[in-house]
Amino acid sequence: MSSPRPRSAPSREDRGPAGAALVASRLEDLHIGARTELDHRDAFELLVATVLSAQTTDVRVNQVTPELFSRWPGPAALAGADEAEVTEVVRPLGMGPTRARRIVGLARGLLERHGGEVPDDQAALEALPGVGRKTAHVVRGAWFGHSLLAVDTHVGRLARRLGWTAQTDPRRIEEDVVAWVEADGTGAEAEDLTMLGLRLILHGRRVCTARTPHCDSCVLADLCPSAPAAPGAGASSAPGAPSADGAPPDSGASS
Ligand code: SF4
Repeated sequence: MSSPRPRSAPSREDRGPAGAALVASRLEDLHIGARTELDHRDAFELLVATVLSAQTTDVRVNQVTPELFSRWPGPAALAGADEAEVTEVVRPLGMGPTRARRIVGLARGLLERHGGEVPDDQAALEALPGVGRKTAHVVRGAWFGHSLLAVDTHVGRLARRLGWTAQTDPRRIEEDVVAWVEADGTGAEAEDLTMLGLRLILHGRRVCTARTPHCDSCVLADLCPSAPAAPGAGASSAPGAPSADGAPPDSGASS
């Protein structure tokens, strides 16, 4: 069982933030073939699935979208759907009526403002019901091929632990990470912000988890200022384990 590292415990934060280029390169090697884990066949399905993924997991979203997209394939069908029927389909995700209202409203917005097409435009996407900056970045990055960082809880935690930011606000985290990549990056394909974000998410799910980061087996341990100071020490039991909120030790960042 892990516990936040005492502020007086030894750490590696004296080495400074991890190099963005090296982090990007190592995560590319580790998380080969990283892609969004939300099942989709087109931009519309990715957009709806991403909106549905708020406050739940991709795995759970993937369990309801086959029926959702089978019964209401495309914006026109979903725009004309009975919200009560949509609610029943998305109910397993929790907040069924809210989610149903959100995605039916989204489909109507797509139909009325964009002829049923998903616009490759940040402002136009953010103007749609239920779509924020992160969702727009997911769709424009994963479907339209732009280099855009989508900041979720994993990206924020990793960015703090790697010393790239002390912020907790997604927009400010994004600004800090982009600045690090631009300052330290080499421009290699691995540093595409969309792919970097996807790999940070996978690393956050599999290795640098919120409560029990596996620093002892992490490929970033020799770069990471939040890794325990003692060589070979496991994060789960070592006194040098990163704080659970991902804030670098003594950074003053709050969870
Ligand atoms: S698992 Fe540990 S070493 Fe790896 S990125 Fe997270 S805090 Fe740093």
